[in-house]
Amino acid sequence: MTKLEKLIPQTVKGFRDIIGDEYYRFQGVFEKAQEVAVYYGFSPIEIPMLEHVSIFERGVGANTDVVEKELYNLKTKGGDNLAMRPEATAGIMRAYIENGWQSLPQPIMVYTYGPMFRHDKPQRGRYREFRQFDLEMIGSEKPIADAMIIITSVAILEDLGIKKVTLKINSIGDKDSRNKYLKELTNYYKKLQPKLCANCKERLKTSPLRLLDCKDEGCKPFKEEAPKAINSLTNDAKKHFKQTLEYLEEAGVAYEIDNFLVRGLDYYTHTVFEFEAVVTDEEGKEKTMSIGGGGRYDYLAKILGSKKDVPAVGVALGVDRILLCEGTENIEAKVQKKPKVFFIQLGLEAKLKSLKIIEMLRKSKITLTQSLSKDSLSIQLGMAERIKVPYAIIFGQKEAMENSVIIRNMSTHSQESVSVENLVEHLKKLK
Ligand code: AMP
Repeated sequence: MTKLEKLIPQTVKGFRDIIGDEYYRFQGVFEKAQEVAVYYGFSPIEIPMLEHVSIFERGVGANTDVVEKELYNLKTKGGDNLAMRPEATAGIMRAYIENGWQSLPQPIMVYTYGPMFRHDKPQRGRYREFRQFDLEMIGSEKPIADAMIIITSVAILEDLGIKKVTLKINSIGDKDSRNKYLKELTNYYKKLQPKLCANCKERLKTSPLRLLDCKDEGCKPFKEEAPKAINSLTNDAKKHFKQTLEYLEEAGVAYEIDNFLVRGLDYYTHTVFEFEAVVTDEEGKEKTMSIGGGGRYDYLAKILGSKKDVPAVGVALGVDRILLCEGTENIEAKVQKKPKVFFIQLGLEAKLKSLKIIEMLRKSKITLTQSLSKDSLSIQLGMAERIKVPYAIIFGQKEAMENSVIIRNMSTHSQESVSVENLVEHLKKLK
């Protein structure tokens, strides 16, 4: 590393600046998702980026990758053990318990949007700081709640214009189903233990469900023959899953049952699901990526310290990945208006008076761009041409004295003089 390189400040690996059009695309996704969520009856919530580390250790699970390997832990000067949130669900459930929302009419339906932090291996579509749009429905054990979370997510993805999305769904059932399944899975994999990769040997002891997530080529074939969660469901759990699927069918939501979808976090029960979509990689090749996922988490509240179980279901949509999907290229934010005029001022007198004119245009909602720090006409006209603005206002010494401006049509180069008094009205008429 050269001396100069050392001096250039850099973002942290896996973190990035979001500027210009990209900023507006992120904002556009949030606005569209928020609008759908609000129409379905969700309310906003913002939770802190930092929580006590125990919220994630207990909630997400100490043996999950998200907590064991990827958590950004920090010890504060006051001696607290905190962590940057790797996901929103545990924090929202903490808020539900802490704020006593049990006493409100149930279910509580909330949405949130913001950055999450995981110390993962960065690559395209995988960052250490990434944004999720999150929906949670807390306080209902009914299958229609599972279906509503999925239906709302599908509406959001559709509104965003994403093509080629597949909804994969599975059920791991209630406690009894889950325990039965864990036993069967463990027995099955125990017989294969000598052939398993080192990670899987460890998973067998700590979190057997995650054996199904192994990407090791040697372990992959074992999954095909592995027992399926669906076969361990209790009658109640079967009924829950069947009803959820019926609601989806009624709503016209297509799904694929994926028998080995269990998802990485510890807190899931009953329904688990993921949205897969086609994205293009750096070389423009298409590949499939998970752009969102969620499920039911009926036991999380108690794990976090609630006296009673609180049934709940939620989803997290990965906004950074959504923006890599085909169909989302032209997402725009509401405030993102292309400027109609470029304001050119020449000379001290004009510069002084230009502030008032700019203020007048802003109040009349005429979008403009300007470069008040520049003095030369050719430089300012050049800038106006570069950003392809349809009109330029030229305000020089003479115009400042006469209280008028010149309006230049940037494509035909025709010019006309208009009094400052009539400027707004005149500009509004121009297409
Ligand atoms: P999860 O909270 O792991 O269920 O993830 C939900 C969604 O968030 C995923 O489907 C991804 O779209 C997105 N996501 C998770 N981790 C990352 C990451 N490291 N970088 C970008 N997006 C992510």
